[in-house]
Amino acid sequence: MGSVPHPRQVDVVVIGGGQAGLATGFYLRRAGLTPGEEFVIVDAADRPGGAWSRMWDGLRLFSPSSFSSLPGWMMPPWSDDAGYPPRSHVVDYLARYEQRYDLRVARPHRVRAVTRAEERLLVDAGDLTLAARAVVSTTGTWDQPFWPSYPGIGEFRGRQLHTADYRTPEELAGQQVVVVGGGNSAAQLLAELSTVADTTWVTTRPPRFLADDVDGRALFATARARIEALGQGREHTGVAGLGDIVMVPSVREARERGALQAEPMFSRLTPGGVAWADGTTRHADVVVWCTGFRPALHHLRSLGLRGGRGRIAVGGPSATQAAQEPRLFLVGYGDWTGPASATLAGVGPSVKATVGLLTG
Ligand code: FAD
Repeated sequence: MGSVPHPRQVDVVVIGGGQAGLATGFYLRRAGLTPGEEFVIVDAADRPGGAWSRMWDGLRLFSPSSFSSLPGWMMPPWSDDAGYPPRSHVVDYLARYEQRYDLRVARPHRVRAVTRAEERLLVDAGDLTLAARAVVSTTGTWDQPFWPSYPGIGEFRGRQLHTADYRTPEELAGQQVVVVGGGNSAAQLLAELSTVADTTWVTTRPPRFLADDVDGRALFATARARIEALGQGREHTGVAGLGDIVMVPSVREARERGALQAEPMFSRLTPGGVAWADGTTRHADVVVWCTGFRPALHHLRSLGLRGGRGRIAVGGPSATQAAQEPRLFLVGYGDWTGPASATLAGVGPSVKATVGLLTG
């Protein structure tokens, strides 16, 4: 039997080395903590880039590089005729960001559980165990794809995949493909798939397209307004429009081809395809579920915290502190942990407030 490793004592453990974890590392370092010693960033993946290293090849940012930067160092400019930076540019930026600030991400180590050990939190990543004064969880959503349940889902004889499984359009070339979902992922994925496959697009409500000259910058402006309003104790409606479709060049081109026609959601799957309530049916070889993600919080189950909708209740001055465990912080999961905090440009303010509280 192997011996149980003795936990190393550190000040802060950051779980996750994607954009949110790296931004946390940036501010912890700026507060005077030594990377790899006083704070440790632990990541399950074997390479840098967080979810960006696992997203599909053709994905592009929905805003220019100058609006997609983490604290401290601007994303290098990108310009080509096809529009905003591709995901490879983001992966490269994150890898270089990590090196630039010498953040010493410990990988690959998947955290299985966080438990209480007297005045510390014990972070168990199998061969690595750490006892921390505070834990910042920045595990994102990519590890938790959301699959809705529809009648007949188990009878369908074709292939079903989620956005998280999709890589290139070539793998579905020549097939009849139903794309489900009304957000940016569905629209971008449909745009490229429809060049090689026979696609049907279904959405639960009519898709909302932003004007051609509006992009992710509008989202960040709304987020900034919300941060200011909350700081002044005023109400603000939130980051409305986050799910609206940005007309990046590939999506505009699909619209011009007539490939962006959405149909209402089908009511069930059949062995050979999908069927609507009025009796219409359509053959499908493949159904692609672009139905979003939930927060990846399995590693925190052991703390027995509750929140509803797969979340953990947060609050405090940074809006990221677990309501029932003040030594735990959740950063970068979405509007519920800070306005636009799940975006490259939006995570900074949330991290800054969190680290300010942690080190203040
Ligand atoms: P992730 O990037 O998911 O990083 C989490 C890290 O945690 C991963 O490296 C993972 O290995 C690790 N991890 C998970 N569980 C554990 C565990 N138990 N133990 C140890 N490590 C663990 N934002 C923009 O600003 N602009 C855009 O154009 C844009 N486009 C997007 C398009 C898509 C399709 C999606 C899904 C998101 C997009 N986003 C965009 C939002 C955002 O930039 C990404 O979701 C980003 O990946 C979130 O970063 P993160 O650090 O919070 O999480």
